[in-house]
Parts: sequence; C-alpha cells; structure tokens
Amino acid sequence: MLPETQHRTAFLTDPVFRKHQTGWAHPEQQKRMTAIAAGLKQAGLWEKLFHLTPHPATVQNIAAIHDLLYIEKIRLACEEGGLFEPDDVTLGSPGTYEAALMAAGAVLTATDAVMDGRISNAFCAVRPPGHHAEKDRAMGFCFFNNVAIAARHLQHRHGIRRIAIVDWDVHHGNGTQHAFEDDPSVFYFSIHQVPLYPGSGLANETGIGAGTGFTMNVPVGVGATDNDYRREFMESLKPALAKFKPEFILISAGFDAHNNDPLAGTVLTEHGFGDLTGLVMDMANEHSQGRLVSVLEGGYDLPALAASVTEHLRVLSQQRF
Ligand SMILES: [Zn+2]
Repeated sequence: MLPETQHRTAFLTDPVFRKHQTGWAHPEQQKRMTAIAAGLKQAGLWEKLFHLTPHPATVQNIAAIHDLLYIEKIRLACEEGGLFEPDDVTLGSPGTYEAALMAAGAVLTATDAVMDGRISNAFCAVRPPGHHAEKDRAMGFCFFNNVAIAARHLQHRHGIRRIAIVDWDVHHGNGTQHAFEDDPSVFYFSIHQVPLYPGSGLANETGIGAGTGFTMNVPVGVGATDNDYRREFMESLKPALAKFKPEFILISAGFDAHNNDPLAGTVLTEHGFGDLTGLVMDMANEHSQGRLVSVLEGGYDLPALAASVTEHLRVLSQQRF
C-alpha cells in the first residue's frame, strides 16, 4: 500500500485508440485524445501524473456485460475491413475492436492498480466510450461498456461487494442502467439533460426487482449550471451514497455538459467539473477508502474537453496551483 501521505494519480491512455477511426467530421474522433494530452502538458500536469500502461481486456472480461455473439459480430465487422455503422450515429473501422478491448482494459488496469495499492486513483482517457453500449448492440458512439465491465471485474476479481457508478456525461447512460437495474450491488447515479439522446433516464426510473432503489436518475434542463449540478450532488448523490456505502466508486466522466459543447444545452464550466470531482473524492474518502477510477465518456468541443479533463485531474491529483 502507498503510505498515507503519498497520493498518486494515474493517467491511462494508449496509441491504439487512434485506430478507432471515425473520420474528421465525427464528434467522437481521435483528435479528442491529442487535445487531452496537449492540455495536460500545457498545464504542467502531465509530468506530475503516474503514467500507467494499460493492458487489453479479454473476451471473457467483456462477456461479463456483453453477449458473446455480439462481441464476435464486432470482431468480424472489423476483420472484414472498411467502415461499418452499427447504428445511425456510431461508426466503426478495422481498428475499432482492438481499440475497444484496450478501452475496457485500461479501466481494468486502473482498478487493479487501485486495489493493489499502487495508485490512489486514476483517469482513463479512452475511446470508444462505453455508457450507451447495450448487452447486444453498439449505440451512441459506444461499443463495449467500459465502466460496467470494470464494475463486474471489481466484483469477480477483487470481491468488492458494493460499487457506485457516478455518471455525469450530459447524456443518460442507458447501457449502464440496463446492465445493473435489477442488481442491488451496483448503485447507478446519472445526471443528464432531458430531453436529449437517448431519451431514457427519467426520475421515475429507479431500478427493477431487487435493484429497485439502486438506480438514481437526475434529469436537468437546458441551461443547467455548475451550481445546479453541485446542488444535486450534495442533495441527491451524497445522501444516497451515505446510505449505500460503496466500497469503490467509478465515474463515467463525460465532459459534454460543458457550455461550449456542441451536443447539449447545459452550461457547465471546466471549474464546475473540478468542483464535482472534489465532491466525489470526498464521498470516496468517506466510504471507499478513496478508491476512485474515472473513465472518459463524451466531450466534443476540443478546447473545452482539454480544459475540463485538466481541472478534473488537477483535483484528482491534489495539485492546486
Ligand atoms: Zn455524452
């Protein structure tokens, strides 16, 4: 374990994410990774982070959430070559399968390192993103549900009983909700704009069967601000986690609620994302021994994405300047 005074934040990314080629006109494109790295370097944060090399996920890891037939379908579509469109907004290329295995694998690598005590927390700058991916289909730029796969891995490999997923991407994480809606061992919190793609995530969706009460959706309207988000984190998320007592917290960190993002109408700033990061860290310190892994989802205005990830990591790594 790390000595209590030594705080170490890992940053995980990989060149293979470039192989998921969606073209230069698609919002979810490889320049997002370049912008994040450049932003961190410019802010002087890059050298202060612990750069952890990710390992790809295995098919078995992915199959904890997705059907084997679906996984094989994506592999074959990539092997055939050329571009393919699993739905009308999602684009795949020959390198997508390899990138998607690494995206999920990076989150597994990060969770293993937190559990081994090698790092305090981590941010995974990965693509394709994951929270819209359903059990048997790609959706909304997502192929494999990175955060959901990591939650199952924490349970199977590390014996973690209660996991909270905090999803602040501006879109509702339908795939994550569906993966755990009947499961009281994973608490899913999503704050997102409504109405907006994918259309789910109303406040009355609170889980089903044994999972009732373990899904919390907080829809916000166009124009929602940093303060609106802070209030929901303090008044909705905080008491819910105080009751649930997660042993590990995962963040589905989309930065598309930013004011400059082209895909939504909320008006958060990069400082707002830094503030929310601090709130979730406080909750992780209180309930989860600080165990926290954050995973990139959306965020499509490149300067806003870079600035938001920088503030996120500034707070995660406790670098105040
Ligand atoms: Zn999004």
